[in-house]
Amino acid sequence: NQVKNIAILGSTGSIGTQTLDVIRWNSNLFRAFLLTAHSNADLLISQAIEFVPEYAIICDQSKYQEVKQALAHLPIQVLAGHQAIIDTVTHPEITVVLTAMVGFAGLEPTIAAIKAGKDIALANKETLVVAGDIVTALAKQHEVKISPVDSEHSAIFQCLVGEDNNPIEKLIITASGGPFRGRSLDFLANVTREDALKHPNWVMGAKITIDSASLMNKGLEVIEAKWLFDVEADQIEVIVHPQSIVHSLLQFRDGSIKAQLGLPDMKLPIQYALTYPERIPTNFKRFSFTDYPNLTFEKPDLETFRNLSLAYTALKQGGNMPCIINAANEIAVAGFLDRKIGFLTMSSIIEECMQKINFIANPTLTDYLNTDKETRIFAQNYIQQLPSKALQ
Ligand code: NDP
Ligand code: MG
Repeated sequence: NQVKNIAILGSTGSIGTQTLDVIRWNSNLFRAFLLTAHSNADLLISQAIEFVPEYAIICDQSKYQEVKQALAHLPIQVLAGHQAIIDTVTHPEITVVLTAMVGFAGLEPTIAAIKAGKDIALANKETLVVAGDIVTALAKQHEVKISPVDSEHSAIFQCLVGEDNNPIEKLIITASGGPFRGRSLDFLANVTREDALKHPNWVMGAKITIDSASLMNKGLEVIEAKWLFDVEADQIEVIVHPQSIVHSLLQFRDGSIKAQLGLPDMKLPIQYALTYPERIPTNFKRFSFTDYPNLTFEKPDLETFRNLSLAYTALKQGGNMPCIINAANEIAVAGFLDRKIGFLTMSSIIEECMQKINFIANPTLTDYLNTDKETRIFAQNYIQQLPSKALQ
C-alpha cells in the first residue's frame, strides 16, 4: 500500500483545510506533497511547517520573501506565482491533484496536471463549467480519472458504483435553497452581503456561499454534472432539499432511484475522492433518521432565482456560453462582496454578458481564455456605468 502524494491547489481555503484534516488523520495513506495559497501567507506557512510538503507556492509574488524566510529551516521548495503552480503540478511524484482553488484560476493548472497523467480530485467546478469539453477530452486521452469532490457529484459518483452497463436516465441534484429560500424578488433586492454569507447548512468560502444564496452554485453544478456524467441538460433535475441530507440521486432506465445520504460534511466526499473505490473508516458524526424526522423536497423558484435558469440556458446553448456566465458571475459576486452592486444586479450582469459577448460555437482553449478576459472587462465596465441608484 503506497502512500499517495497529494497536491492541494488552494490548501488555505475551506476545501483545502478540510483536505489537510483528512490527510492528518490518514498519514499512512496520504502525504501533502504540494500546497498552494493565493495570498494567505500566514496559513500557508503554518500548514507547511506541520506537513513539510515538497513545495509551498504562494501566488501573490509580494509574499514570497516572507514565506521563503519562514520556511528556510525546512526542506521545502518555496515558489511564487500562478505559473509556478502550472509548472509544478506535473511533478513525477504527485499521484493526485486536488483542485480546491476558487474560480477560473483552476483551469490551466488542472489541464497541466491532466496532460501529465495526474488523477484529479475536482472541487474547482468552475474548471468544468468553463471548458468541460476540453478538460474531459484530455482526461480521456491521458487516461486520467476525475473524481468529484462536490458533495452532489460525489453522491452520484457513489451511486454509479457497480452500474457500468446501466445508462443514466436522470440525475436529481439536491439544493439547500440557501439563506433566501422562499423569499420574493422584493426581499432579494435589499439583502446585504452579511445576509447572503449566512448559509444554513455549510461553512464554505465566500464566493461559493454567495453562489449558493443566488442558486448560481446549483447552475454551475448542473453544468459540472453534464461533463462528469455525460448527460444532457434535460436529464438533470434540480430539487430543493433544505436539510442537505440527501446529497443527490440517480435514476436508471427501469425507474429505480439510488441516493446517497449523510450529514453535511465535506470531509466525506473529499476523502472518497482520494480513496475511491475503497472506503476507509472515519470518526465523522453519523446521521440518524430520528434527528431528522422530516426530509422535505420542493421545486426551485426559477423566476426569483434567475441564475439557475440562466445556467440551464447557457448549458443548452453550449460553446463558450458557460464560460461567459462563469466569468460574468465571478465579477458580479466580487462586486456584490465589495458592496458595489445589489444582489439582483448579479443576474442582470450575467444576462447582459450572455447577450453582448461574442458567441463561439466550437471554442479552442485560447478562445476560452479570451472569452474569460473579454467578459470580465465587459462586466467590470457594466458595473462602473450603473446609475448610482442601482448601487447599494
Ligand atoms: P475558499 O475561498 O475557502 O478557498 C480558496 C482557495 O483558493 C484558497 O486557498 C485561496 O488562497 C486560493 N485561491 C483563491 N483565489 C485564487 C487564485 N486566483 N489563484 C490561486 N489560488 C487562489 O474556497 P472554497 O474552499 O470554499 O472553494 C474552493 C473550490 O471548491 C471552489 O471552486 C468551490 O466552488 C468548490 N467547492 C467548495 C465547497 C465547500 O464546501 N467549500 C463545496 C463544493 C465545491 P488564499 O487563502 O490565499 O486566498
Ligand atoms: Mg455542491
